[in-house]
Amino acid sequence: MVEEDGTLKKIADGIALLDLSVAMGNQQMVVHPTLLWDDKDVILVDTGFPGMLTSIRDEMERAGFALERLSKVILTHQDYDHIGGLPEIQQSVGPVEVLAHDFDRPYIEGEKLLIKHDPSRGTPPRAKVDQLIGEGDILPYAGGLRVIFTPGHTPGHISLYHPESQSLITGDATVSNDGELLGPNEKFTPDMPLALKSLARFTDFDIKTALCYHGGICDHDVNAQFARLATRA
Ligand SMILES: [Zn+2]
Repeated sequence: MVEEDGTLKKIADGIALLDLSVAMGNQQMVVHPTLLWDDKDVILVDTGFPGMLTSIRDEMERAGFALERLSKVILTHQDYDHIGGLPEIQQSVGPVEVLAHDFDRPYIEGEKLLIKHDPSRGTPPRAKVDQLIGEGDILPYAGGLRVIFTPGHTPGHISLYHPESQSLITGDATVSNDGELLGPNEKFTPDMPLALKSLARFTDFDIKTALCYHGGICDHDVNAQFARLATRA
């Protein structure tokens, strides 16, 4: 069941979807990091654009946590809208452990220029990756999180399956629009054939709710929608 509390949406015990927005020029950008928690850790999956720290703080408070409780950040990939909030989080909270895939690590750490670097945005945000994660890893947080390697949108893109709530944190492996899963955004996906192959991986899982960073929650016929998208691979 999805409860609405402010703008944050609690999916189940230990998992909620954040709703962050920021004005960029004359456009309102909305993104949806996921918050996970257990007795020990509070974990944010992706961090929004630079300038979203106050919204992250507010949304975490709606979930019952001070921003300072944040202990880990998992990055689904290197893109600006996913890593942008991380430097401000670390300035405000102190050291927060960062997890990401090795193939996107050099970009996140600033060793290489972000693949989709936009010079008008100035120097890209960067952060040290403390722990590398990859296909099949079970991360011992929030009852266990399964890492699914889903390259194509970037070389080191990952998605996360949360078995307890049967939720899939898609990152940008697919976007959704009013609960309809659309597949990867072609404009920002350099390797579409690989991204579609990655998307087909989701048919191995029993998914009740897909949490899309762009587009939010999809919770109807999710397995059937992924099965249909898999035929494009
Ligand atoms: Zn994105």
